[in-house]
Amino acid sequence: MKRMDIASVRKAEAELLLPTYDRYPVMASRGKGVYLYSESGDRYLDFLSGIGVNALGYAHPAITKAIERQARKLIHTSNLFFTPYQAELAKRLTELSGLDRAFFTNSGTEAWEGALKFARAFARHKNSNGNQPAFRVLAMENSFHGRTFGSLATTWTAKYREPFGPLMPGVTFVRFNDVEELRRNFDDTVCAVCVETIQGEGGVTAITPQFFAAARSLTKKTGALLLVDEIQCGLGRTGKYFAYQHYGILPDVVTVAKPLAAGIPLGAILTTNAVSECMHPGLHGTTFGGGPLACAVAIAFLETLQREKLLPHIAKMGEYAKKKFEALKKKHRAIRDVRCYGLMIGIEMDSADLAKNMSKEMLERKIVINRTHETVLRMLPPYIVEKKHIDEVAKVLDELLS
Ligand SMILES: *Cc1c(COP(=O)(O)O)cnc(C)c1O
Repeated sequence: MKRMDIASVRKAEAELLLPTYDRYPVMASRGKGVYLYSESGDRYLDFLSGIGVNALGYAHPAITKAIERQARKLIHTSNLFFTPYQAELAKRLTELSGLDRAFFTNSGTEAWEGALKFARAFARHKNSNGNQPAFRVLAMENSFHGRTFGSLATTWTAKYREPFGPLMPGVTFVRFNDVEELRRNFDDTVCAVCVETIQGEGGVTAITPQFFAAARSLTKKTGALLLVDEIQCGLGRTGKYFAYQHYGILPDVVTVAKPLAAGIPLGAILTTNAVSECMHPGLHGTTFGGGPLACAVAIAFLETLQREKLLPHIAKMGEYAKKKFEALKKKHRAIRDVRCYGLMIGIEMDSADLAKNMSKEMLERKIVINRTHETVLRMLPPYIVEKKHIDEVAKVLDELLS
């Protein structure tokens, strides 16, 4: 491919692509560890990891090697053939999650879409007396589940949803962490309660133990499913394999994606044997999902988490980051709140403009973060991050706020 500079790429994209992205003024060229290098030779400390995807940083040797080996052997076969990879990956994910079975997808939204379909199919399956099966879905305010129609219908942000209506009917939004409102809206017409254990796009906000417990016990009573979206907070991000494991609650359905294959597109729906009974051949499927390359890389990702003992490292770095950023909060009144769950970090500023400027100025200082939920600076650094990197981010934040 011919080499192009950022100005000509920008011009070509403006003519050739749909105008869906507001990109940073940087042309990425390559990456190594925690650093992303631009075409013009600048080095960026990447505290976003491609929105929580590049969990082992850039060009991790275990991932590069898994891709090379598998690409030589078998990239794709469709789901018409047996290959050993899906079962091997499902074995690991079910052991880690406490669930029984997996279905593999290509993205987060596709995993969430499947989870919603399973909830509807499960309600129909267990409804044997000929009544209208439960079909309503309770979703949360400030939720984000993706951009396809079902995911969008359960996503709170009106500007993402409203231009595409009418969406999937039967969705009611409940105020996140409001137990009373959840109880008021829950009845036996509900087939699913949908939560993110830690809302990501919604500003890095954790579910409360009381609310999680209420959602679990209400759904258990009627046989509705508790769907938990861990696409952003799952697979090590919070220092445990799954964020719900901090609460001692087992969902019926869990979705994961972002870091699962360390940069290769892959998602998964994990669920119980009971839910799996509502499925049969042909009822759901995908062409690409769970391909040999993606699954082999995901296996290498999980092996690396274990071999490099990254979970305790994430917990330790998370604690360190929390201390550093809380010290900044004491010093700067513009910081309203600091929320650190392992390496899922939100720093809430007292205005949207300030948050926007901060994110921009951090980039000028060669640090990648982003702004979410208007006022929140979000960081999702790779799991291999070290104290010195956190120190540098804290130092630059401190300087910019001074
Ligand atoms: C990113 C994200 C999704 C959507 O994933 P895509 O791969 O972009 O479709 C869904 N839910 C949560 C919590 C996410 O963070």
